Amino acid sequence: MAYNKIRINPISPEPPRASVLVIYTGGTLGMVFEAKGKQLVPFNFEQVIEKVPEIRRLDFEITFLTLNVPIDSSNMNPEIWIELAKIIGDQYAQYDSFVILHGTDTMAYSASALSFLLEDLNKPVILTGAQLPIGVARSDARENFITALELAASVTDDGNPVLSEVCIYFNSRLLRGNRSKKQESSDFNAFHSENYPHLANAGVRIDWNFPFIKPYDEHKNLNIWEKLDTNVAFLKLFPGINQQVVHLILNISGLKGIVMETYGAGNAMTDQWFLDAITDAINRNIIIFNVSQCDGGRVSQGHYQTSRYLKQVGVVSGSDITAEAAITKMMYVFGKEVDHAKCIDMLANPVCGEMSL
Ligand code: ASP
Repeated sequence: MAYNKIRINPISPEPPRASVLVIYTGGTLGMVFEAKGKQLVPFNFEQVIEKVPEIRRLDFEITFLTLNVPIDSSNMNPEIWIELAKIIGDQYAQYDSFVILHGTDTMAYSASALSFLLEDLNKPVILTGAQLPIGVARSDARENFITALELAASVTDDGNPVLSEVCIYFNSRLLRGNRSKKQESSDFNAFHSENYPHLANAGVRIDWNFPFIKPYDEHKNLNIWEKLDTNVAFLKLFPGINQQVVHLILNISGLKGIVMETYGAGNAMTDQWFLDAITDAINRNIIIFNVSQCDGGRVSQGHYQTSRYLKQVGVVSGSDITAEAAITKMMYVFGKEVDHAKCIDMLANPVCGEMSL
């Protein structure tokens, strides 16, 4: 992937206290309204930077990398996730922290994917974006961007980064990336993390929620994992889902795993045809990962009679994982090319704080 590089030096004559690499991928933050097509389209980032001259007042050095062709995040894909991970890997020694400017639509997927790909991360990687383009007077872009930079450059009294994980910062909240979901397409409050507390709230001062932040570990050495396997699919249950739909999804050629979005605490219908289809898929070594359609709470297979069978036949409980983290985790786990039992073990247990046991 080609990209352009621009460096912004602080106004202050003092030596910069940190260096942050900003990677611009696109999204509403950097879009403009194209009068001809009456639509929002990604914009040249050099002009975007001109719209936030105040970043030069921050006392750290900021370098921008921009994808040659910025995208609406609806066009995000695993190749770009791997490319982003590689950029961070290549630039890891040169920068203290990383901010990724990204569209909101798939930000939770990207944050989840990066949390898996950036193995043993011990520097901050913060994704942010905006609901209104930065050129619009009422835009939330400036606050999101500037606070994300501040959070990324935050250090503890002993000089270590406060954050050493992939996060999303949006509308005053810092969230663990692989616990986040997009909840709003119009309010500024675009993201939430129902099953994990906020890592920080940025008001007049920044209130860190230290017990929930992954502790810094100086012995960690970043490893970039470069393979994701997309032989995965969602199966979202709904009353009335018919046999043919379930059959077709479970028989997709090359399929290795399904994230099955169930009801409540992981419950599903008990019609015999459905149970037979699930059993047949599991017998063909397709892994079924049970994730709830509820944003809050967790899967507890066997709690109700309507989930007991799933547990008996070996459906894997996703506990309180989000659908976004579940599908990207499956791509990551299958990308590891480990044996079937190891895949199940990795899915059932937290890899980087994406689920609770
Ligand atoms: N469609 C846009 C995107 O995800 C929405 C946004 O950035 O808020 O790129």
